[in-house]
Amino acid sequence: MRIDVVSLFPDFIDQAAAVGVVGRARERGLLSLEGWNPRDYATGNYRRVDDRPFGGGPGMVMLLDPLLATLAAARAADPAPARVIYMSPQGRPLTQAKVRELAQLPRLILLCGRYEGVDERLLASEVDEELSIGDYVLSGGELAAAVVVDAVARLQDGALGDVESAVQDSFEGDGLLDCPHYTRPVEHALGRVPDVLLSGNHAEIAKWRRQQSLVRTLERRPELVDEAALGKADRRLLAA
Ligand code: SAM
Repeated sequence: MRIDVVSLFPDFIDQAAAVGVVGRARERGLLSLEGWNPRDYATGNYRRVDDRPFGGGPGMVMLLDPLLATLAAARAADPAPARVIYMSPQGRPLTQAKVRELAQLPRLILLCGRYEGVDERLLASEVDEELSIGDYVLSGGELAAAVVVDAVARLQDGALGDVESAVQDSFEGDGLLDCPHYTRPVEHALGRVPDVLLSGNHAEIAKWRRQQSLVRTLERRPELVDEAALGKADRRLLAA
């Protein structure tokens, strides 16, 4: 998969995606990441990329032409069709289901705003969708784009050592939160590992994990559980 990031600070994304699973995915050629700086496509002595908003008010707005030229250059760099996504607090919330959808695509172009954002006319003509990483406002789209790059990269085939680890994560499958995890030592001043995890009984371990997922999802994120859709086995686990 290829991801192009249009940003006034392309090095930020490059560094954020240099370590761990994402860094390894890039090294293995599972993901290629390219930064495109609109300043390189701006004209004039000052290479301006922003200007004051019409109607007055605080802040600056990113200019159309440098962004159009940058997007055109990014598109032309590879024949694969790209989905263009503007990172925006006004976009649809990024979910694991959306990440899975994006991870199947051959190519993404992530557009990072700065200041008050981009000239609105760009959105209608050049942008396929807007995505938000949460109901708060960042100073720029780079952190949000780095979130998309990370979440999508780890779903590329071969990126994770064990495919199952992604399948069992929170929000996957039927959308529940993941169960708790423990490792050595069994006994510790902070507590003991639950006996069932030491039993070697895989059916009982699976039941316990399912129960823990259900209980913690109901406690922490009840809106994720479709109680009407729970089967008999799940109801028994919750009643236990
Ligand atoms: N004036 C804009 C508004 O209130 O909707 C906020 C602009 S923000 C200061 C600058 C840029 O940061 C945005 O253009 C966007 O690219 C990015 N950004 C800020 N918050 C974001 C969020 N929650 N999710 C994704 N991108 C965000």
